[in-house]
Amino acid sequence: MARIILVDDSASACAFLKGELEGRGHAVEDFRSAEAAAARAVASPPDVVVTDLWMPSMSGLQLCRLLRGEPSTSHVPVILLTASEDRGSRFWAKHAGAATYVTKQEVARLLREVDEIKSTARVASNERVRSANRTVQERLSDLMDELLQTSTLAGELRRLGLAAESHERLFRELSGLVSSVMNYRWLALVLEDDAMFVHAHPDLETQAVAEARECFGVKAKSPERRRFEEDGVFLLSDTIPTPTKSSATSPSSCAIRYGDITLAHFALSPEKRGLSREEKRLLSLLEAELGGPLRMAALVAEAQRLASTDTLTGLFNRRAFTERFEQAREKSGMPTSLLLLDVDHFKRVNDTRGHDVGDIVLKRVAQLLRSMGRKRDIVGRWGGEEFVVGLPGSPESGARIVAERLRRAIAEKPVETTHGDPIAVTASIGVATMLHGLESLDELIQRADKALYSAKERGRNRVETL
Ligand code: GH3
Ligand code: MG
Ligand code: MG
Repeated sequence: MARIILVDDSASACAFLKGELEGRGHAVEDFRSAEAAAARAVASPPDVVVTDLWMPSMSGLQLCRLLRGEPSTSHVPVILLTASEDRGSRFWAKHAGAATYVTKQEVARLLREVDEIKSTARVASNERVRSANRTVQERLSDLMDELLQTSTLAGELRRLGLAAESHERLFRELSGLVSSVMNYRWLALVLEDDAMFVHAHPDLETQAVAEARECFGVKAKSPERRRFEEDGVFLLSDTIPTPTKSSATSPSSCAIRYGDITLAHFALSPEKRGLSREEKRLLSLLEAELGGPLRMAALVAEAQRLASTDTLTGLFNRRAFTERFEQAREKSGMPTSLLLLDVDHFKRVNDTRGHDVGDIVLKRVAQLLRSMGRKRDIVGRWGGEEFVVGLPGSPESGARIVAERLRRAIAEKPVETTHGDPIAVTASIGVATMLHGLESLDELIQRADKALYSAKERGRNRVETL
């Protein structure tokens, strides 16, 4: 036997259904309006609510939403009834949180559903019942505010996708959004490759990074894995209000997923102990919505990587090299040098050992160039078996030393191949140094190319300067 609240604005429909339900041994309280039913349900939660979907004043959907939102009735299953089968009703019934949806003609099904739902009904939550003397209208208007806030915040979180051109920009926008809604000590995001972003007030930076690391279990990085200025941490600390003198609060954290893939972990250390309802709502929205923008940022990063990388060697391609070289030149000022390197008699390698072995040689040269440079040097594949190395801040003398070191390293160690003997490889290198900022990269390349030509002329396996 179940205690049922039945709502239908049609007296005859109500009487009929009440008779049927009572015939099955249920105790039924019936109401003509959703307002009256809501007041009764909140004051004394029934086992099941059966309600007409479309009614004047307050609909079954609104009633359903209201009951879901009230702590005392959030567990009470609601069955929605309508006169006819229509898709729209089913959609809204599902999104209002109804247990099921039955047409009024399907009385036998309704009775079955009541029995079934009754047997699987959850127990009332222990959450504190909010002030009992609020009217149904007040409760509905609160609910309306909540829904509006939720959809506004969800919209703003989805709009972060527009900032997905880089993870850094996305994180800036995210921390801007969250800090405009709530106060926190710090907020952090760790991507799956362990890059960590932290937003905190400057006074709290060091502590925030340490706490975020502890929360995520992220170790301090070894120097070669540094991605950002500060030991794998991207710090953002300009737009946050001065922290109050609160001590460390335990952070709230969640995984951010996109479908089945975990893309990141998010954590926030609240300013006060215990989060408000609104703050909890923001965090659960963030958990649900941030996956899309993060996925987009990952795809953009991957597309950028593919567009700027040479597939065979993994070095920058010509376009990406040019872009980075220009940026580095602006930063480091004069002088800036450039090496153009060409593998000697490479055609012979292809002709005698095959194209695949030729590829192995190119990869090996690329690896040497990459491993021997300084952090700020820029290494690219200029095309075919020609490579380019940008040396920002290096004068000609320094560039010659680097070039000579590279030449020797290539010549000293024959390249191991998968089939056949190791291959002795040499390269010729042309060096050019930019002394006045007026010279373009094209002009510099031309000079390096001339120097390279002269190295070839003079017998190869040499470094020449022009
Ligand atoms: P030199 O000492 O004068 O530079 O002679 P070379 O044989 O190295 O120069 P050449 O320009 O005559 O030949 C370069 C060859 O590099 C021709 C081309 O087929 C080959 N090549 C270009 N790109 C690739 C590649 O990606 N893989 C392989 N295996 N060969 C390539
Ligand atoms: Mg060539
Ligand atoms: Mg060559």
